[in-house]
Amino acid sequence: MTLSGKTAIVTGSNSGIGLGIAQELARAGANVVLNSFTDRAEDHALAADMAQEHGVRVRYIKADLSSADACRGLIAEAGACDILVNNAGIQHVAPVDQFPVEKWDAIIAINLSSAFHTTAAALPMMRAAGWGRIVNIASAHGLTASPYKSAYVAAKHGVVGLTKTVALETAEEAITCNAICPGYVLTPLVEAQIPDQMKAHGMDRETVIREVMLARQPSRQFATVEQLGGTTVFLCSEAAAQITGTTISVDGGWTAL
Ligand code: NAD
Repeated sequence: MTLSGKTAIVTGSNSGIGLGIAQELARAGANVVLNSFTDRAEDHALAADMAQEHGVRVRYIKADLSSADACRGLIAEAGACDILVNNAGIQHVAPVDQFPVEKWDAIIAINLSSAFHTTAAALPMMRAAGWGRIVNIASAHGLTASPYKSAYVAAKHGVVGLTKTVALETAEEAITCNAICPGYVLTPLVEAQIPDQMKAHGMDRETVIREVMLARQPSRQFATVEQLGGTTVFLCSEAAAQITGTTISVDGGWTAL
């Protein structure tokens, strides 16, 4: 399966899931635009390494997606967008009556509104090209809730709603829009929490992963960034041309409970 000649923009892709998805899209032959809000030498080095590994063009574009103008500017600066992966996201945990207003605003802006702005800017390019794929990285929290995550759960449910609406507006075109809903994914951020959790619970690595971190994930295994990349590549394939407006859970059975 090849995506050669396609340009894929992956938001929030200098680490974790976004980077994993960008890698798999590049492996499938797409030219890739990486993004985050920083502008460090290592961000640009990631792009150079990915280009060399897969023989595709890779650019890194800085854009702080908490700003509407920056979201739309990212797509404009990329100049082409056949595949848009809305992945950038942040989290904050607090009871709803103590949830800091600035954290609520930032989570809604980065996790939800950015997907609206990038989609609005990318759709004319997809229509001109006669083909497009939009993949929104929601979460199991786009389908279920947990306490203390009001902004995150609201934003991720919003992303699922946006996904359905965009799919209906593009249903008669060769453009699809879907959401992937990951459960707990082993990213560097999660990996870094394991030693502290082991200490706090007096458990070995396997037990803390199984009994504490993956208590809600029936498979008792993390999803991997490679699996999310593979799911994204599938959604970009011809086999997925009639899959639109839906969610694909990659959550080890979490939402089946
Ligand atoms: P991460 O922190 O490794 O990655 C988040 C990315 O977003 C980073 O590249 C970061 O630089 C970028 N980002 C943050 N604020 C930004 C801003 N203002 N502008 C531009 N980029 C910004 O986390 P991750 O676990 O890889 O999460 C990626 C996505 O997957 C998020 O939307 C998250 O909600 C979702 N998700 C993660 C998990 C998990 O278990 N890790 C589970 C379900 C959903």
